[in-house]
Amino acid sequence: MDVVNPATGAHVETYDEHDEDDVEKALGRSVQAFEDWRTRPVRDREQLLANAADVLRENKQEYAETMTREMGKPISQAIGEIEKCAWVCDHYAEHASAYLEADHHPSPPGSAVKTEHEPLGPVLAVMPWNFPFLQVFRFAAPYLTAGNVGILKHASNVPGCALAIEEVFEEAGYPDNVFQSLLIPSDLVDDLLTDSRVRAATLTGSGPAGRAVAANAGDQVKKTVLELGGSDPFVVLDDADISAAAETGAWARNLNGGQSCIAAKRFIVHTDVYDEFLNSLTDEIDALIVGDPIDEATDVGPQAREDLMETLHEQVSTSVDAGATLVSGGEPLDREGAFYPPTILTDVTEGCPVDTEETFGPVATVYEVADEEAAIAKANDTQFGLGASIWTQDRDRGERLASQIDAGCVYVNQLVKSDPRVPFGGVKDSGYGRELSEAGIKEFVNRKTVWVE
Ligand code: NDP
Repeated sequence: MDVVNPATGAHVETYDEHDEDDVEKALGRSVQAFEDWRTRPVRDREQLLANAADVLRENKQEYAETMTREMGKPISQAIGEIEKCAWVCDHYAEHASAYLEADHHPSPPGSAVKTEHEPLGPVLAVMPWNFPFLQVFRFAAPYLTAGNVGILKHASNVPGCALAIEEVFEEAGYPDNVFQSLLIPSDLVDDLLTDSRVRAATLTGSGPAGRAVAANAGDQVKKTVLELGGSDPFVVLDDADISAAAETGAWARNLNGGQSCIAAKRFIVHTDVYDEFLNSLTDEIDALIVGDPIDEATDVGPQAREDLMETLHEQVSTSVDAGATLVSGGEPLDREGAFYPPTILTDVTEGCPVDTEETFGPVATVYEVADEEAAIAKANDTQFGLGASIWTQDRDRGERLASQIDAGCVYVNQLVKSDPRVPFGGVKDSGYGRELSEAGIKEFVNRKTVWVE
């Protein structure tokens, strides 16, 4: 696996891939590790997870630099990502026992009935490059603490991150092979899914990858959790605090170079405040510092891969050809590396790529709508259903409209974000199942009812 620094195009390092034989051995080790790991008290597993949080905090600079080198995340955001991983670990280190406690039921006279939460075994995680640490910890922290063992197939452009995460668990004192990273291409994933030792799978990534994994796992009667793309609406109503909405909206679209499933992608703005909001958003977006991701002042780094930037540019160019107006950006930057500027499009015609597809980069579309009803209709006019943000100074109005949006989460006067205390996931083509919180840790457990007469 060749790693290329997307900020420079320079070759960083070559990693040896694992082959079928390595995969076979890893599976054997995984099953063996599970036999002991499943019997450990949850308290022990929580303690190890707390240690993992310490290891993350101690090495955050090093891990962040690996991330920045491999996929171009601005260093300050990369450090923030490592800190967030530690927070996810803290959360489950504190709450896993309570989440996993047996459910007790009303028992008929003379009987004792409860439902225990037992681990399933080796769980395969197919993970993406955009949050190369956080996506993995969202899976590993809950599932390992529930007693499962993990096998990670990370994205092919972040092998250094995959190995660094394996090292976090080693340094935290986890028993060998409770967590293993396999450096394999995606065409070996099918072999893992069809192997009876793998008991479940989770994938974060594109729709096609999700469909392929879910179809195969379904054929094997294995449960999956899918966290796929999004085209989140950011609805600005006539009574919104416009400067707060514009400031947050600019970040919500451009964090991580816009390469986030929950980035605000479609700005849907009430006609009464449209001009004011568009001007403020343009000012905020034009003020973002685009540059070398290793520089702490940088807000927007390169796109993670050259081919991803080309796909994004194709979406923009085709939409402009179809009638959209470029307010800002719109051409790859004339410098080395995969740099695409923060871009704003208005007058977006129905059905063009930026209207219907996910744009995985710093491209904002801004729509003008006549009223609240039209705003909700446009917000729901998408195949996706991950998150949504609504801006209004009337909190009751925000809450009422939130119930009309088809999404896994709605944030009022806030950007969409993941938080270990609350469930995270989507509806429609954004996937199914939930990560984080109590819902997340219970995705891959056997809810075993024990009835004692
Ligand atoms: P992919 O969905 O292709 O990659 C995500 C992960 O899935 C990687 O580990 C990849 O491995 C693996 N994978 C890909 N195809 C298969 C398959 N058929 N079977 C099993 N595993 C598979 O994303 P890309 O990197 O190609 O990005 C393309 C687009 O996907 C982005 O532009 C964006 O729209 C979306 N995406 C969404 C993410 C999200 O957070 N929802 C995250 C990343 C991407 P490998 O790297 O070896 O191909």
